[in-house]
Amino acid sequence: MPDRTIRVLLLGGTEEAAALARALDADPRLHLITSLAGRTKVPATLPGELRSGGFGGADGLAVYLRQEGIDAVLDATHPFAATMSRHAAEACGEAQVPCLHVVRAPWTPVEGDDWIPVPTAGDAAAQLHPGQTVLLTVGRQELAPFAARPDVAYVVRLIDPPSEPLPFRPHALILARGPFALEAERSLLARYRIDVLVCKNSGGSATYAKVAAAREKGIPVVMIERPSPPGGTTVATVDAALDWLAGVIGAERAGGLSRRP
Ligand code: NAP
Repeated sequence: MPDRTIRVLLLGGTEEAAALARALDADPRLHLITSLAGRTKVPATLPGELRSGGFGGADGLAVYLRQEGIDAVLDATHPFAATMSRHAAEACGEAQVPCLHVVRAPWTPVEGDDWIPVPTAGDAAAQLHPGQTVLLTVGRQELAPFAARPDVAYVVRLIDPPSEPLPFRPHALILARGPFALEAERSLLARYRIDVLVCKNSGGSATYAKVAAAREKGIPVVMIERPSPPGGTTVATVDAALDWLAGVIGAERAGGLSRRP
């Protein structure tokens, strides 16, 4: 009897998830399902089976894991997607499915950086000074607290055009998807005469150039630090995630994975 195909659910929305999908799609031992939240209008093209939209909380995800006969979950969501990661941990615990969180390393300040670390977007808004021009790259869902500071001018960068009016009137709205090059970020800071950058500590290379450009120009960065990590088994790289999955496949082949009812 041939070995059973291992069914893997990949929670995506990041470069790491895209890299994992590309690496795993061709593996004949696996059936890969990549899940996206469905927020981005034109998501990156990914190989393999795709699903889109929420599961209905941790309980909904646990039901999904059982219904789909999922053997392993790779949570490669963004470091700020804390709710999804928590739900993944809870659902996997409930359904007894091995779960790995893939969390890229955060950025750390280097010489010349002028960072103001803050825990939330609300705290970031409180750090701004009247009359400043602010480059705001925190994502559409984090904009509301900045409406409390109508005394600054916002240059807002988003991936997609907002489906609802923004909570404040921006000085400029830029629609662009990373990766962003250093030269382009330098030009952006100069063109809009940016006084301060507000961003999340996402980590990774795709959106780091704005931080490097701010450092070069001596522009302060209000850096929103990450929410608490999900706990459970966590790795920082795609390669480490592939190693972990190889271990899961090995355990399954040896009959060692706990099977669900
Ligand atoms: P979140 O606050 O942690 O999640 C909110 C809800 O969205 C989850 O409870 C879940 O709904 C649904 N969801 C999130 N990720 C999902 C996925 N991959 N597949 C299916 N449902 C998902 O997440 P978020 O911060 O809104 O991020 C949404 C997506 O954008 C994630 O896939 C993330 O990787 C990506 N992303 C986020 C950021 C960021 O800064 N937050 C940046 C880049 C990319 P249910 O409870 O109904 O299951």
